[in-house]
Amino acid sequence: MTEAAYDTDNIFAKILRGEIPSHRVYEDEAVIAFMDVMPQGSGHTLVVPKAPSRNLLDANPSTFDPLFTVVQKVALAVKKAFGADGVTILQFNEPASGQTVYHLHVHVIPRFDGIPLKPHTGGMEKPEVLVENAEKIRAALGS
Ligand code: 5GP
Repeated sequence: MTEAAYDTDNIFAKILRGEIPSHRVYEDEAVIAFMDVMPQGSGHTLVVPKAPSRNLLDANPSTFDPLFTVVQKVALAVKKAFGADGVTILQFNEPASGQTVYHLHVHVIPRFDGIPLKPHTGGMEKPEVLVENAEKIRAALGS
């Protein structure tokens, strides 16, 4: 089946252009990272390449080196910031997989022994909690 084209008005493209707000924790020339507004766990962060693609399937392979370099940085930072026991990395491709926003992104979720993930795209987190968590991650990234 032919997949749909990249939509320049997807929500992450709008965040990348600064048209809608996000709680950013990291930015460089190729990648940004910000808090997921419907976290599957405390500190759930999304790492997003600036290069446009729907997902991993249509991405230029040159995207992956800078993207996964930042995924590792953010994974180490959230583990430290939240004193996590582990980190789950998730990435979805097309609706059948659970993808809901069609700009490539990687989920970085701190994990704690015995605590299951909340549902994917479940409830909205309070903005003040996202602000506080973003501050913790920025501090861990900076140290
Ligand atoms: P996907 O299902 O495409 O892998 O994940 C999309 C993620 O984006 C979901 O975890 C969802 O909670 C998150 N999300 C959806 N809309 C927004 C938004 O407007 N801002 C932020 N920061 N995250 C969003």
